[in-house]
Amino acid sequence: MQPFTSRGAYHLLHDSLIPSDVVRIWSTRLPAKVKFFAWLLYHGRLNTRAHLFHRNIKTHDESKCEYCVDTLETDVHIFVECPRAQAVWSRLRFVVHESTLRCPWDVTLPSLLPGAVKDDVMILIFWHIWKARNAKIFDHRDSSPAEVLRHISADIDAWSCRYRKLPWSSMLSTNGLSLARHLSLLFLLSSCILFARDAEYYL
Ligand SMILES: [Zn+2]
Repeated sequence: MQPFTSRGAYHLLHDSLIPSDVVRIWSTRLPAKVKFFAWLLYHGRLNTRAHLFHRNIKTHDESKCEYCVDTLETDVHIFVECPRAQAVWSRLRFVVHESTLRCPWDVTLPSLLPGAVKDDVMILIFWHIWKARNAKIFDHRDSSPAEVLRHISADIDAWSCRYRKLPWSSMLSTNGLSLARHLSLLFLLSSCILFARDAEYYL
């Protein structure tokens, strides 16, 4: 497997056989660091402990999930199988399978997300599950599922300005609401869900 380089990413992007999924990643309005994360996820190149084990950088004993005894920390485990990830998905009522792990935009959603931001929001959720994993490993900081969801909501709110410059045609969704309005509603909805679930969580 070739190591990740920006030159390699450039050539991949400009190759005539660019997978449409890769184009989707770079078409989002997320910060570059989040796009690179999605690119690595798509190509199975995240530096999971299993990945480092297979490259002989870590021993098998050093390659387990922080939460799950004797379970190799693969990307499938981090985002699909680990109870930590499952707690986040179940709170959102999303069902993520191994088959959709590398393509977050293919996850079937029970809630209404405008098409113009669905890819962005789904990648963002994966990004924050990854960040929570990193915080646990490198900072020994445990993030509850509610905290992960709060961080996702905070980013949706903080980055909503990135979506105000979309062309007028894409500012309208199928029911005619503007994207900015959709994002506001989404944030409001997620805040309400978090509030309700936090109350439930601590009872
Ligand atoms: Zn685990």
